[in-house]
Amino acid sequence: MTAKRKGNSPEQLIRPLVRKLHGYVPGEQPKIPGLIKLNTNENPAPPSPKVIRAIRSAADGRLRLYPDPTAQPLREALAKFHGCKPENIIVGNGSDELLALATRAFVEPRQRGAQTKRQVARQTIQYFTPSYSLYPILADIHGARRNQVKLPGSFELPANDALRADNWNFSAALSYITTPNAPSGRGYPTRGLAKLCEEQKGVTILDEAYADFAAENAMRLARRHPHVLVSRTFSKAYSLCFQRVGYFVGHPALIGALDRMRDSYNVNGLGQAAALATLSDIGYYRRQFERIVRLRARTTESLEALGFEVLPSQANFIFAKPAGLTAADWFQQLRKRKILTRWFDSPKARNWLRITIGTEAEMARFLTATKSILRQ
Ligand SMILES: *Cc1c(COP(=O)(O)O)cnc(C)c1O
Repeated sequence: MTAKRKGNSPEQLIRPLVRKLHGYVPGEQPKIPGLIKLNTNENPAPPSPKVIRAIRSAADGRLRLYPDPTAQPLREALAKFHGCKPENIIVGNGSDELLALATRAFVEPRQRGAQTKRQVARQTIQYFTPSYSLYPILADIHGARRNQVKLPGSFELPANDALRADNWNFSAALSYITTPNAPSGRGYPTRGLAKLCEEQKGVTILDEAYADFAAENAMRLARRHPHVLVSRTFSKAYSLCFQRVGYFVGHPALIGALDRMRDSYNVNGLGQAAALATLSDIGYYRRQFERIVRLRARTTESLEALGFEVLPSQANFIFAKPAGLTAADWFQQLRKRKILTRWFDSPKARNWLRITIGTEAEMARFLTATKSILRQ
């Protein structure tokens, strides 16, 4: 294996674009026993017993067979759930897979040399900062142009005029909008999103990974506008991160384009069985959402009582700015006490900590730890 052979070094075998890529940095999945994990927005409750049973009973000799290539029963159940048709739905290996597919289906890679405004728009992927930190990576993997537009200090959705003044491109080939937003937890009012979608000409993906914890969602915009796709996932709200199942809802033309590009068996069979069983026991999950929303309010009040600033959250996490210590310090001190949260070292986010809502006991320990850190 030593470099005896003449020719290219392994590095030179790799496309220049890929050589320069920085991969996505997922939240830590630590092996430390007893650690309280409030860093990746997983649901602290297990899936419904019906889901566990469905997975167990699917795990037999049939594992040798390929799964349903079009996830047909799951797409039919999702169509019923959302009041649309199966051709309005594509299922992916997590919504991350579909977010990546969209770059390949709707965006031209960046071209060299002088480009017209129209060509630039065709090559542009745009999103807000801060929002889901995967988007810039997906743009880079595809070799697209990035248009990052900063959210205001309040993290609220700007009106169209303010967006225009901030170089938001209403003709961009693809726009990703996380709603409710991560990491801020802010919900964007559907009325504001509707105005944005009305003016937006390119494909607009409303990434609703946390919609189940919010007071409203924008699903109707995917039905109203052919260029709007809504992204949902079983990962967070439905306690199925491990299984990797997400989906888009939208116009059959856009859904069909993604469908032609996906891998033939992109959704694993146990994931399909688990997601299908999830939809048959929605009541179980609604109770979880209510519990998380109540605990979110209580945790917010407790932190505010300490003088911390907490943004109003519509997700299963809160974004909090501490008083009396820096967010980075709070993060480190919590970590020493075996409580893991998420701190983003970016200009807009570094004064804040993102804390997933865990169980009652976990949140109690988190608050006790925070108070003891403040006393030091
Ligand atoms: C977690 C998350 C996803 C990814 O979900 P998967 O279905 O697990 O791939 C997508 N978007 C946002 C904003 C998320 O937080």
